[in-house]
Amino acid sequence: MTSMPDSTASVQSDIPPGDTPMIRPTQTKIIATIGPASSDRVIVRKLIEAGVRIFRLNFSHGDLNQHSERVAMIRDVALELNRPIAIFGDLQGPKIRVGPVADGGVFVPTGTIVIFQREDDTVSADDRSPRFTCTYPGVIDDVVPGQRMLINDGAVRMLIIEKSADEIVCSVMNGGLITTGKGINLPDSTLSVKIIGERDWKNVRWAVEHELDCLALSFVRSALDVQELKDGLERIQSEGKADYVRMPVIAKIELPQAVQNIQEILVAADGIMIARGDLGVEMDLASLPVIQKKLLKAAQDHGKPTIVATQMLETMITSTIPTRAEASDVAGAVFDEADAVMLSGETAVGEYPVIAVETMRRIVEQTESYLATQSAHDRPPVTISASNQSIAALTHGVWTIANDIGANLIVVWTKRGHGARFLSQNTFHVPIVGVTSDLRVARQMQFFRSVIPIVMPVPENLADMVAQVDRRLMESGLARKGDPTVLVSGGPLGDERIPHRLAIHTIGDSS
Ligand code: PEP
Repeated sequence: MTSMPDSTASVQSDIPPGDTPMIRPTQTKIIATIGPASSDRVIVRKLIEAGVRIFRLNFSHGDLNQHSERVAMIRDVALELNRPIAIFGDLQGPKIRVGPVADGGVFVPTGTIVIFQREDDTVSADDRSPRFTCTYPGVIDDVVPGQRMLINDGAVRMLIIEKSADEIVCSVMNGGLITTGKGINLPDSTLSVKIIGERDWKNVRWAVEHELDCLALSFVRSALDVQELKDGLERIQSEGKADYVRMPVIAKIELPQAVQNIQEILVAADGIMIARGDLGVEMDLASLPVIQKKLLKAAQDHGKPTIVATQMLETMITSTIPTRAEASDVAGAVFDEADAVMLSGETAVGEYPVIAVETMRRIVEQTESYLATQSAHDRPPVTISASNQSIAALTHGVWTIANDIGANLIVVWTKRGHGARFLSQNTFHVPIVGVTSDLRVARQMQFFRSVIPIVMPVPENLADMVAQVDRRLMESGLARKGDPTVLVSGGPLGDERIPHRLAIHTIGDSS
């Protein structure tokens, strides 16, 4: 495995140094899931150049050796391109899957009876109903007749009609092929399966060892589930270390219980992913657009970042162009101010991973350009319920000054990224340059809409910060001499213990 870059020594920014042609990053971040179709240096490089700022490792597929190779490759290419690219791990959580099925699977016709049994050893050869097992045998204790059992993203639909100590009998309402490992959803049942299993904890340890920037947890039901991961992470991260950058946790919202408990989940989690794949199976598909909108708004009120995921450009797994509806779906997430939009199969197993990212980028760019012309500054900052009064006041001040002076940029010095996060949850429609001395924090800032992370040594004071920022922004072409800018110091600078400072600055005036 290639050695990990030292988070403190490297000076990376999202802005290419010197005379590299400047491609301004999109404000809405693009996430690519890495998989067999993209596990290649050249492709990873092209994906970053096309606009990817965050990679997702899906722990449901591949093994840890493969993931190690992918992390090393992404980090190497990021270093080569001098960009703080983030990587997060997606924990499988309590996803229930069909147990081993004979080669080629078993076709279950509509109207027939199917049996799910606890153990694998009781299958009777002369039984006329097909029998299956699943990866969570306790399901037999948790379900009751009258509830639905959906297989393969809802392609096969069954109704549980009978239950005994060791098996459940289902009537097939919508027939289809059942093969090994297909996902099972039980939208009407309350399952007592553990949120984080042994395999997940192994992945958590691995993620800490490999300094991933964030973890996403699947099938979250309540704040307690999020807290369990956070507590475990704290134990693992603090082993032998006094000071560490806490690994944030993103709650994947894919169950009706999570939608219902969204307020408490938003308090506990560092962000949410609207995981529309499972959500669309667990809930009525027709309700999905409204749920997405409500979840985005709720997260913004809490000042927590959001990811809109799944089937954004699904057709591009096998086609070089998306459907019109897919293009509108990506734009819709941008209109609703999602922090990030995510590609799954398109970049993991698709035939056109780079074209998919380029397409997503073009849709995002055009939508953002349009938004920038729409009375961009007519909305006051959102009320962030989780923020304290001084942060809310500071954000309001920045917003007002930025409007009044027609700022082209907002620059925030931030130790742990919180200042950048609060600013990013407000509609500025101008880039927010998040400056930190910690590469890990810079990578974590990639999850925040509009934030362009920069790493530079801790400035001695505000004047030093202004001089350094001026030089970096002008060299990169991100700002020009004379650009009006608002500077915010959201954390201690050098020896100064002043938590917040605000200044109006004209780029180039420090030299
Ligand atoms: C989803 O269900 O939309 C999702 C992103 O999760 P996964 O890819 O793990 O099914």
